[in-house]
This record gives sequence, structure tokens and C-alpha cells, in this order.
Amino acid sequence: MATDNARVSVLSDARPNNDGKYVLYWMEHSQRAENNDAFEHSIGWANTLKLPVLVLFTVDPDYPDGNARHFTFMLQGLRETIETVKNRGAHFSLRKGKPAKAAAEMARDAAVVITDRGYLRHLNEWRREVADACKCRFEMIECDVVVPVEVASNKRESAARTIRPKLHRTIGDFLELPASWNIKHKAKGLGSPDDLDLNDVAQFVEGLQCDASVGPVKGFTGGLAAARQTLKTFTTRHLRHYGDGRADITTRNVSHLSPYLHLGMISPLEVYDAVKTAGGNSESVDVFVEEFVIRRELAVNYCHYNQQYDSWDSIPAWAKETLKDHESDERSAIYTLEQLEQSKTDDPYWNAAMREMRITGYLHNHMRMYWGKRIITYTTTAQDAFEKTIYLNNKYFLDGRDANSYASISWLYGIHDRGWPRQPIFGKVRTMAPSGLKRKFDIDAYVKWTRSL
Ligand SMILES: Cc1cc2nc3c(=O)[nH]c(=O)nc-3n(C[C@H](O)[C@H](O)[C@H](O)COP(=O)(O)OP(=O)(O)OC[C@H]3O[C@@H](n4cnc5c(N)ncnc54)[C@H](O)[C@@H]3O)c2cc1C
Repeated sequence: MATDNARVSVLSDARPNNDGKYVLYWMEHSQRAENNDAFEHSIGWANTLKLPVLVLFTVDPDYPDGNARHFTFMLQGLRETIETVKNRGAHFSLRKGKPAKAAAEMARDAAVVITDRGYLRHLNEWRREVADACKCRFEMIECDVVVPVEVASNKRESAARTIRPKLHRTIGDFLELPASWNIKHKAKGLGSPDDLDLNDVAQFVEGLQCDASVGPVKGFTGGLAAARQTLKTFTTRHLRHYGDGRADITTRNVSHLSPYLHLGMISPLEVYDAVKTAGGNSESVDVFVEEFVIRRELAVNYCHYNQQYDSWDSIPAWAKETLKDHESDERSAIYTLEQLEQSKTDDPYWNAAMREMRITGYLHNHMRMYWGKRIITYTTTAQDAFEKTIYLNNKYFLDGRDANSYASISWLYGIHDRGWPRQPIFGKVRTMAPSGLKRKFDIDAYVKWTRSL
């Protein structure tokens, strides 16, 4: 097969089914039809076995925290992916229901089943469910990180400093984009009455009967074409300022790629390649690689080796202890979830950040840190703050419910960080104060800008 072996995990080593009618690519995490190792790997198998490729994607209306905002963005991307898959000569079957159940059903008539890799608990459980049901060979291909998670490290890493040398040592072996193969046996007659149309995304979303209280956003459109345009804007206009200007929330010299990366709409290798090509050996490229490879893949490492990533139990004992010690410290006010959600705190900077994420589905990293840290001061216990932060993060961000969501929120509570000089409420956990924002940025200009949204 064409795929680099380190990206392949064999989930069932049964032989290919001789009676199989197709090679099934159960698409789940890598929602694209180009630079997708799992799709190319499926084509490789299909050409060898002289069979067509059937790509299956099942939209789960009950996906954890799924709402109209998330589904609209995802389905915009899928509509484009479906067209590309069909143009390449494979069949695309779009279903509604339980992804693992649908994949297990379709696997019955498959010669070989291929899927991509996810890192969260339910995504792993889905794959195990399909492996248990699958009577033929079942392989999983890791396409949404630069270095495969188990190659990068065989254990949970404690900080960026411990995973950094490991990633730098191995990255050179994993930079090649997958070759794009011709499909030799075009899909004919694989359609089923259960296949759904995706002509009208809004109508499809309505039919899901999901939480419609969080609606679609204007600033992001799902799909590879939009992801590529976003990448191009970044490499041509912002990359050169990324090294020294990334942290400035007002200039926005960042990529805005996280929603696309979250749904696998663009290959991380394609992003890496474009940034390297555009930026050469500049400091900006190094800083980007630090965020995009080291920090992002540290988050993947965290969730992969700690499947309780969303539990308060995973927060380090020293951080829990120091936060507990400071639980009775005076707070300016305690807010309900509804007050937080509606930007009704006494801090105009925090309210502005909440407003931006509520309306746009996105927030600059520096404001995410500030937003998350300040929630600790708005609740009576740190555990309550942790849980409220996960809820708000996953409800409003387009990139929410990602490995990055859980690692980043846990960072607010000491994961991948160290102890700092003691402060009220935070104890030895790193704090962030409004004075820092005033010192570093024209924060009032930011607040004004969010009012215009
Ligand atoms: C409280 C909090 C919550 C967060 N929630 C999420 C989330 O739900 N989903 C999510 O993808 N990211 C999350 N992040 C990480 C980070 O803020 C975003 O990935 C980044 O701001 C996305 O914007 P961008 O694509 O323009 O970033 P850029 O600066 O252009 O970076 C490019 C890519 O590198 C990765 N990256 C950048 N910064 C970080 C970082 N600090 N840690 C890990 N990866 C990084 C992202 O994949 C990002 O898309 C959170 C951070 C904090 C502090």
C-alpha cells in the first residue's frame, strides 16, 4: 500500500473478504477528498482487489454538544468533499444515524474497511465497535497530525519541553503528502435508497433537529476550498508577522485554521508545506511550527494517553490543592452560566471575548487564555469553573470538542505548565489579569470592535 506504515494501525487482521463488493472508506475525522491518506489507502486496496471504493459518512444528530453552528460548517465541507469523491470515481454514501452502527452494517459487504483516526473517547469507542463487528480486514490511517501520535511518543508527555525534541527528531520522516491515485474500477450501482442528498445544507441541518440556539456563523465557510483560501491569506499577509506579532489580538496575524483542522478539512501536511514554502527559515515559521506541531500534537498526546481528558480528576494534584486552598478568597462576583454566556460580568474585556466567541465561533489564542483564566474568579470552586469552561468552549467554538479543547482548558489548571508565585484565588496556578491586557494591547479598540459584530 502507498501509505507510510507508521500511519497505519490494523484494527482487524482478518483477510480481505473475497465476496466483498467494494473497499469501504468509513470517513469520520478526515473530512476531505484530497491529501487524505485514508482515502488514498482505500483506493490502493481497491485497485489491488479490482473493486470500487465506497466512502461512507454518517451524520450523528446526537453528536456530543453538536448544534446548528457545528453541523452547518461540517456539512458545507462535506458537500464539497462529496463532489470531489464522486468526480474521482468513488461512491459517496451520506447517512444520518449512529456512525459506528452504519459502518458495521456497510462493512458486511466490504472486502476491506479503512477509516481515519480520532483521539477522543467516543471516537475510539466507535472504532472498537466496528472492529468487533467487522469480519474482514480493518485498518485505521492517521491523517490529521504531522507525526503519528505513537511515533511521537509512547507515553503521556508532561510539557511542550518534553515532546518538542521527540517531534523535531521524527518530523522529517512524515512530511510527504500522499500520492493521489487514479481509481481503476469506477463505482457503479452502489447507491442505496438510504443515501441522503446534500443540496441544501440549511434544510439538512433543520432535519437533524439539533440544538438550533447556536446558529451558523458568517466568517467561516466549511470545506477544503475555504480552508485553502484561509491558508493562502495567512501565508501571503500574516505569516511574516507571526513571529513577533502573533500575540497581538488587534492585528490578527494568525491563521484562523483551527476550525478546518478540527474537522480534518485540510491536511496538516498541506498546511506545513505551504507555510514552509512561503516562509522559508524565518523566525515566523519556527514560531508557527511551535504552535501548529508542538502544541497541537502535545494536545493529541494528552488525550490519546489520558482518555479522562475532560475529567477534573485529570488535573494535577498540586493545582487542585492550591486552588482549593484559595477557594475562600474574595471574588468580585459569582456568575451563573447564563450570565457568563450573555457577557454579563463586571469585566468589559471578558464580556467582549465571550461576545466574539458567541457570535463568530472563534477567538484569538490570547483572549482564549484570558477568557478561560478569568472564569476561575467567577465561580465558587475551580471544578465548577473547569466544567463551565468546557461547556462554553464546546458550545460556541467551531473548533470545540477537539483534543486541543481539552488540553488547552486543562492547561488553565496547570496541565503542561508549572507552579507560579502565589496569587489570590489562583494560588500557584498561573493567573492572567486585566492589567496585562491593557499593558500589551489596545484592548479598548478590541472591545469596540466586538460591539460592531
Ligand atoms: C482556554 C482555551 C481554549 C481553547 N480551545 C480550543 C479549541 O476548542 N479548539 C482548538 O483547536 N484550539 C483551542 N485552543 C488553542 C488555541 O487557542 C487555538 O487552537 C488557536 O487560537 C486557533 O486559532 P488559529 O487557528 O488562528 O491559530 P494559529 O495561531 O494560526 O495556529 C495555527 C494552528 O496551530 C494550533 N495551535 C495554535 N495555538 C495553539 C495552542 N496554544 N495550543 C494548541 N494548538 C495550538 C491550532 O491547531 C491552530 O489552528 C484553546 C486555547 C485556550 C487557552
